[in-house]
Amino acid sequence: MSDCLFCNIIAGKIPAKKVYEDEQVLAFNDIDPQAPTHVLIIPKKHVVGLKEAQAEDAELIGQCQLAAAAIAREQKIEDGYRTVFNVGRGAGQSVFHLHLHLLGGRKLNWPPG
Ligand code: AMP
Ligand code: ZN
Repeated sequence: MSDCLFCNIIAGKIPAKKVYEDEQVLAFNDIDPQAPTHVLIIPKKHVVGLKEAQAEDAELIGQCQLAAAAIAREQKIEDGYRTVFNVGRGAGQSVFHLHLHLLGGRKLNWPPG
């Protein structure tokens, strides 16, 4: 997907501050952080979003969540953090390559708004 921002980050064509990488998943700092820790965890496979994910993507989605938990442990924000998929434009999804937000390092209010 040559016109996909996150595919271009995976390909190394657009720079990002990587915090974790394995065969299936890449994680990097959000360019516009909403909390002291704000990391995006993405599958290397281009999946448009949670709405579009298929049964075969279940393991990939779980790997994103577990990568978020590992990063939270490493960044010592386990007192309280949140993992979020924004699904669809109405929920603020602006990049159409599946990404899990990891937010922490400050008090997180509920409901999130
Ligand atoms: P969403 O609004 O849920 O689709 O999340 C997209 C996120 O990508 C936003 O939080 C943006 O700040 C972030 N973002 C956009 N461009 C970049 C980039 N080049 N590097 C890192 N994060 C980005
Ligand atoms: Zn993509």
